[in-house]
Amino acid sequence: MKTIGLLGGMSWESTLTYYTRINTGVRDALGGLHSAKIILYSVEFAAIERLQNLGQWDKAGELLADAAKKIESAGADCLLICTNTMHKVAEEVEAVISIPILHIADATALAVKNRQMTSVGLLGTRFTMEDDFYRGRLEKKFGINVYIPEGEEERAMVHRVIYDELCCGTISGDSRKAFSHVVEGLAQRGAQAVILGCTEISLLIRQQDTPIPLFDTTAIHADAAVQFALSSSS
Ligand code: GLU
Repeated sequence: MKTIGLLGGMSWESTLTYYTRINTGVRDALGGLHSAKIILYSVEFAAIERLQNLGQWDKAGELLADAAKKIESAGADCLLICTNTMHKVAEEVEAVISIPILHIADATALAVKNRQMTSVGLLGTRFTMEDDFYRGRLEKKFGINVYIPEGEEERAMVHRVIYDELCCGTISGDSRKAFSHVVEGLAQRGAQAVILGCTEISLLIRQQDTPIPLFDTTAIHADAAVQFALSSSS
């Protein structure tokens, strides 16, 4: 079994989901007491969030690159950056390590294509929804048409709930309703499904909360790690 490297803590609320899902996936595949080989480096999220807000992505990239090097030297065979947003600096991280990065947008795009869908809505932090690093990758590399919430206010609400509630461990019924409403709006504009493009959103809204198909990036990314780990017996 290969060793999975997790660059987590962004936030740790969702890193917990990764840890549980990866271990469950390995146990489901191999049975008994089998579990995943994982090296986890969990960052101090307040420092990352501060750099995001200041727009100092190069510094945030250096911080993650340094953590990634430590994960590699500890023996990981691959790296997962356990957040959609911080894939904004995935290239900087990739440049300093020789193990592969399992890119969250690539894994998600493949899941979308596997279901023969071509138009999706995207929810996430404002960086993920508005910047090009994520949408652009889905559109240019995979030919997927991406809708984000139309109104500035809706995007601000989604962003605020992620940082002020979900990353702090708060799950609110009002926010669940608000998110369901945004999901419906995206579907009305033509999205065949909605990507939960933030690793905490599935803590708030799940498939049973809406008839519109959802792509949970945390689950998809964790499953890609399990597949990678089990793809060789070394
Ligand atoms: N976990 C979130 C994401 O998937 C947001 C936290 C962060 O800024 O990394 O984008």
